[in-house]
Amino acid sequence: MASEMGQPKGRAVLFCACSGACPSMEKIDFWALAERVRLELGDKVEFLALHPRLCEGDGEKLMERLLTPTLKFITPACAEKRQEKLLRDGFAKAGVPMDEEHWIPISMAQQDTEAVFARIKAALADGAPGKE
Ligand code: SF4
Repeated sequence: MASEMGQPKGRAVLFCACSGACPSMEKIDFWALAERVRLELGDKVEFLALHPRLCEGDGEKLMERLLTPTLKFITPACAEKRQEKLLRDGFAKAGVPMDEEHWIPISMAQQDTEAVFARIKAALADGAPGKE
């Protein structure tokens, strides 16, 4: 269903590395993951970015700058339910709804690099902006 905010026309990947020291993400090689997404999926995204703590003030400031209703954001970070709560202010500051047209959260908690890459790839696979 179309949002009043406008239909996303492309996708972007916004990683949160959780300071790079979260025990639940110890099997994630953030640099290898970001580079693989860039090399293998780069043609499917408008941009990718990585921040160490999106739920802190500076992370929210970045989100305010980057997020736009014209893109659908894939956010590999903590568990989806946590993201819903912790990224809420960043989305709100950007004026982008956290609905399925604009947002695909991906949990990296208790995952490894390969599994997260596969989930990002799947999130980009249908190639239809605005659809899951
Ligand atoms: S948004 Fe989630 S993954 Fe990112 S710093 Fe906060 S708790 Fe960690």
